Amino acid sequence: MKDSPARITLEEWDARYAELRAAGLREPWYGGPLRRHVDEGGDYRLLRLRYDNSAAALRLWNFLLTEEDRLREARRQGKKIVGAMKDLGTVPVMAYSLPNVTAFYPDGAWWIPCVMELGSKDLEIADSLGIDESFCPVRAMLGAFLTEAHFPVPDLLTCNVGATCDDFSAIAQRLNGLGFPILWWETPHRRKPARASGGGTGEDAVALPGGLIAPREQMDFVRSELERVRGAIEELAGGGLDDAALRDGIRVANRMRRVLAELRQLAYSAPVCPIPALEMLIAEMLALHFCSDREEAIRVLEELLEEARRRVREGVGPLREDAVRVFWVNPVADLRAMNILEDCGGRVCGTEYLFSHTLDQIPEDVPPMQALARTALADPMVGPCSDRADRICRDIQLFGAEAVLVSRIPGASHCAVEGALIHEMVRERLGLPVQEIEVPPLCDAVAPTIRTRIEALIETVKARRKP
Ligand code: SF4
Repeated sequence: MKDSPARITLEEWDARYAELRAAGLREPWYGGPLRRHVDEGGDYRLLRLRYDNSAAALRLWNFLLTEEDRLREARRQGKKIVGAMKDLGTVPVMAYSLPNVTAFYPDGAWWIPCVMELGSKDLEIADSLGIDESFCPVRAMLGAFLTEAHFPVPDLLTCNVGATCDDFSAIAQRLNGLGFPILWWETPHRRKPARASGGGTGEDAVALPGGLIAPREQMDFVRSELERVRGAIEELAGGGLDDAALRDGIRVANRMRRVLAELRQLAYSAPVCPIPALEMLIAEMLALHFCSDREEAIRVLEELLEEARRRVREGVGPLREDAVRVFWVNPVADLRAMNILEDCGGRVCGTEYLFSHTLDQIPEDVPPMQALARTALADPMVGPCSDRADRICRDIQLFGAEAVLVSRIPGASHCAVEGALIHEMVRERLGLPVQEIEVPPLCDAVAPTIRTRIEALIETVKARRKP
């Protein structure tokens, strides 16, 4: 097999793995052929995906697919485990600031029905508990808690509530009712500070990551909520989580975010795409919770970045140079959808997967609890849809996307109308073609429809390119 960048199947990875090993590939303890995740873990979806053929991508996949082993090892070593729910990128930064605490997102169960091709029965368990398919796939989390087949039950469970989606609030309350105690902490709906009027002064405002602003009062409230989380983590760990430790934790998180920022810049703006969409989706997800090993997550991303830099320098990549540049809105319940875009002649040039605040730097020039509160308030899900659309429009221009794909998630309350609003706003402001698709956890039955819609988008862009 040639060493040039390509997207390959799992079968082709068998040969590629042997080739890399023969050439002297050295792997971390969690390394090995990708096929073992199918044979031993039942991750059958891997048989239907196409992967980047680099050693860096192999390490990324192996790291992702061994998180459960790391969590069980952490428990064996006596570390305390925090299950952080719904905040996407705030509580894990706090938890990892103490050496004997690790954190993960039970929300990640979202992808279990896809990866195991419904073999895990988590959705059936959720059904039996009255959480049926009118909810989004995050309901698989209920089954995962009850079977303990995918992650250990955390020593502390936190859940961000307030301005979050109805699905998650309902499912987390059901979990609580099943006997899993939860520390709830609240983020209010983000609003603009009131302006000065009638001779009075305006509301005191603070800057948030991502160019947003909020009333200082809201930041103070979220900070006080996070103080309760800090107290619970300290009690769990049996030690103080002081500002110095938090500052260090924020610095490390920012280091990872800088690596990811350069990787995104290269992948989404280089003339030839260096890293395919599927690997980039996983790379972005690592920023949420470090996949249960903060230092290793950074090394994994650094190796991927090194590969991207090399490919950009050499002007090579796994996709055609004329691939249509598409901005992707919302995460997909079936990873295969990312492949379909590229099979149709597209490439991803910019993303908003509902956690853009996790990609931004956490402020280092303000007290750490204030910095974390500002980050939590910058969550695209806690503010008005127009803020999210503003960021999407800005990033579309930054990465030079030619079209936008909004993927809807079946049952998800967050995107019942938001997708349509973003669709309209992008079309009006930028005049770009926009297409919407709906992607269930296994999209095989609707793949022809998804493909047709994406092909229509690609053809529209190609027709617009003609002089
Ligand atoms: S409704 Fe949307 S935001 Fe809420 S859990 Fe589901 S995918 Fe996430």
